[in-house]
Amino acid sequence: MNSSLERILNLVNKISVEQLEELVRRDAVSAVPDGFPTSSGFDGGGTSRGWGPESTSSTVAAAMARQRPVSDELRKRLKKIEQNIHDAERSLNDLHKSLKYMFAKEDDERGRKEQSSPCAICLVAPAKKAGWCDEDRAQWEDAGRPDRLLWTMYLREDRNSEGILMVPECPPPTI
Ligand SMILES: [Zn+2]
Repeated sequence: MNSSLERILNLVNKISVEQLEELVRRDAVSAVPDGFPTSSGFDGGGTSRGWGPESTSSTVAAAMARQRPVSDELRKRLKKIEQNIHDAERSLNDLHKSLKYMFAKEDDERGRKEQSSPCAICLVAPAKKAGWCDEDRAQWEDAGRPDRLLWTMYLREDRNSEGILMVPECPPPTI
């Protein structure tokens, strides 16, 4: 999967926007006949040979007929290129959306878990702020905000490996 992504990135970098724009420009130019046959004998504005609407349109039609095979081919290739770009865009967009969706879901679940994790002191009530429930937090405030870690160990009656209380006395207030 990694190497596929690398290949996609490489290919995208290889596609030249300038070349695409050049093709679109050529297509636009070829759609409009840009010149009349030089051997037509018309002097390009003379009235003696009847440079009227009728002869103009037939000349344009001839020019268009001459252009059509080229521009049709170009148009067909451009359509295919456009379709390919569109397909690639849609595929990449789908890929991006699935990844975003899946990780957004994971983040949501993680957020919920964190919200519902229990208080670090009583291990029962849900933690509301900084890992403690409201009640234990209020008690800590009343005790004069002793060192948080010592306070937690004191209330939890944490013991070392020999079974001795690590913080046997209420830690001193800090305010
Ligand atoms: Zn608590």
